[in-house]
Amino acid sequence: MSTQVLQSEQTREIVSYDPGTGAELGRVPLTSPEEVAQAVSRARAAQPAWAGLSFKERGRVILKAREIMLGQIDELCTLISRETGKPVSEATSMEVVPTLEAMHYFSHHTAGLLRPQKIDIGQYGLMGRSSRIIYKPMGVVGIISPWNFPLGTPAEEVVMALMSGNAVVLKPSELTPLTALKIGEIFTRAGLPEGLLEIVTGDGSTGAALIQARVDKIMFTGSVATGKRVAEAAAKHLTPVVLELGGKDPMVVLADADIENAARGAVWGAFANSGQACASVERCYVHESIAPHFLARVLAQTQALRQEVGTKEGTDVGAMTNERQLRLVEEHVLDAVERGAKVVIGGERSSLSGYFYPPTVLTNVDHRMTIMREETFGPVLPVMTFKTEDEAIQLANDSVFGLTASVWTRDIARGRRLAERIEAGTVMVNEVLYTHGIAQTPWGGIKESGYGRTHGRMGLLELVSPRHIHVNRISFLPDLWWFRYDPGAQKLFQGLATHFTTGSLIKTSRLLPLMVRRLFPRRK
Ligand code: NAD
Repeated sequence: MSTQVLQSEQTREIVSYDPGTGAELGRVPLTSPEEVAQAVSRARAAQPAWAGLSFKERGRVILKAREIMLGQIDELCTLISRETGKPVSEATSMEVVPTLEAMHYFSHHTAGLLRPQKIDIGQYGLMGRSSRIIYKPMGVVGIISPWNFPLGTPAEEVVMALMSGNAVVLKPSELTPLTALKIGEIFTRAGLPEGLLEIVTGDGSTGAALIQARVDKIMFTGSVATGKRVAEAAAKHLTPVVLELGGKDPMVVLADADIENAARGAVWGAFANSGQACASVERCYVHESIAPHFLARVLAQTQALRQEVGTKEGTDVGAMTNERQLRLVEEHVLDAVERGAKVVIGGERSSLSGYFYPPTVLTNVDHRMTIMREETFGPVLPVMTFKTEDEAIQLANDSVFGLTASVWTRDIARGRRLAERIEAGTVMVNEVLYTHGIAQTPWGGIKESGYGRTHGRMGLLELVSPRHIHVNRISFLPDLWWFRYDPGAQKLFQGLATHFTTGSLIKTSRLLPLMVRRLFPRRK
């Protein structure tokens, strides 16, 4: 088996395989561009009625879907495990738990988070004006998602988009279509009206067709290379895009860190999901004074991990999801070793059949190596030492990526100080990887890790169109700045420049005689 997905233009199907065993799991259609356009039309037709419902009514459907998901948790987690290779326990903790949490949070809180906002407009307010921002749904949101969290990533965005009154067309990864279809099935069973969640299975061409079909927003999660193509294609129609892309996330362990816990954090952060998380620890910088102790604990923790097929009980690390990714990991490790890196543990493809790469720890690494520069997206933890805080920050920021990062120290004030100097969308102190699981906090990167946010209020704001409603209650008077521009007008405008723009009511009041004269000119 050379790839996980078979495609044939004749059969127009994609085949989903279990990367741990090679077993075929099912076949789904390779949706054509015409069918994608039809799905977008169905979504567009269904959206206005859905937007007309209250937040509470929409929330009721989401909560019903939540109940159904919870009722099917075993079946669902087994499917995720088989389609991705990850352990069932990780499918549960890293995908289903955050999704259920997001369903609960957004069904109860979207109304409050998108409540119309009154804006303080200063002295204009005293002139009888008022301003409010209201939030309208975008319309049809296109979600294009990757394979590493095939439930959590798209389902949470589906929930947010639906709660904000949109319809959704979801294009899941070609490697994990069955999990996506399960999301659709759950929402259908929950009573979501037809057309509001269309799932178009397929590959990159299907994703490209979705952008071409002129949806109103694209939520893209995937690699930097594809993200750039998506942004370029979306620009043709000026479709706004959120790009959640890759990372090369650094972990900085200071000399005063709790070494045991930092080592456990590094091992989980680097090897959970076989290292195939955008926020995986991809670079570890440890203060030289604690490096031997830290490495010994990392080694002991890693040795204790059990790598097996994801559906086997007690598995810590499963298979990688596809062979292309596994080959990339092999290339990165080989390049590092050729340039002088030392393999502490792992370092070669596992003897298990299936796409297994063992948890690997490298030392003697430096920033000339691909493993310290490009996203590896595999179970590899390269560890480098540093002498000073400034050096650690410089190393952490020496990357084109900026998704997440972490600082480890017992001194929380020092941790916060350093966190603010690291260039990343999320910086954690004494934590790794998990904040994507918090529904309330924004998720997204800077630099080549992308732009825009998902989750929390900031994520909701990506899915709505803010509209400014401005009202003048004094409807019987013209504005001071309207025509005609006679010499009196120019005098008043100069007065406005000098006094009104200071924001001071007392200074502005000096203009009252000029204002009155302009509003009520003496008839000649
Ligand atoms: P990918 O870029 O290969 O594919 C992502 C999705 O885009 C897939 O559904 C794919 O079919 C689709 N696609 C491919 N070509 C397209 C095109 N021209 N137009 C539209 N859609 C197209 O990424 P992947 O290999 O599936 O996922 C791994 C990457 O995702 C890693 O780089 C990882 O860091 C990143 N990721 C980021 C986040 C985040 O939140 N920042 C989360 C998970 C994964």
